[in-house]
Amino acid sequence: MNILAIGAHPDDIECCCAGTLAKYAAQGHKVFIATSTSGNIGSATLSKEEIGALRKQEAAKSAALIGAEYICLDYDDELFYDDVNVRLAFINLVRHCKPDVIFTHNPHDYNPDHELTSKIVHDIHVMPPINNIVTEEPPFDGFPVVYYFEPHKGLGFVPTDYVDITDHFETKKQMLLCHESQKAWMAHAYSGFSVDEVFTEDMETTAKYRGLQCGVKYAEGFVRCNDAYRVKPGSFLP
Ligand SMILES: [Zn+2]
Repeated sequence: MNILAIGAHPDDIECCCAGTLAKYAAQGHKVFIATSTSGNIGSATLSKEEIGALRKQEAAKSAALIGAEYICLDYDDELFYDDVNVRLAFINLVRHCKPDVIFTHNPHDYNPDHELTSKIVHDIHVMPPINNIVTEEPPFDGFPVVYYFEPHKGLGFVPTDYVDITDHFETKKQMLLCHESQKAWMAHAYSGFSVDEVFTEDMETTAKYRGLQCGVKYAEGFVRCNDAYRVKPGSFLP
């Protein structure tokens, strides 16, 4: 299968579904990791151009750990807005990746870039096969299954499905640690928290909690999108 995870910012995917992606990759599936933005406001010292370029390098390094392809749609971090060209870029992305399964943010989240990414993924879902919507990539005739991953800290999120990531937790952690520039930024932007608390410890706590819920050491939880054309028989999770 082809698997596409779409997050708003570099490091969102690592926090929320990288264990599942690592598991898919280990099983021989093709994985794509995409972000709507380059994360180009995530620095107190570097310019937007400098931090955007650095964060794309970090995201590509993380994706490479599981043999995934990283694609950045390169919109502005925290100033991400919807228009015709944004929608065409998302349709083109889906056509390029030809996914059987898409992972994206939960529709309700704390961050507007996350919520908008989720909404656009939902809204363009039936458009990739349509000939009269023209993008660089040709139409793709498929309706992928969609899973939402949890919002930061898991607040208000009750999974419908779980993936045991115990054997892939270390890979998930190494992928998150590729986002080196964000350690300094997190400490700066979220003062009052220790760097580890907002970085790998948060991620580990969530994975342990979801593991506790389904009887394994580490898990990731998802909500299956139950709207028309997103539902297929059988399990698509690894
Ligand atoms: Zn984010």
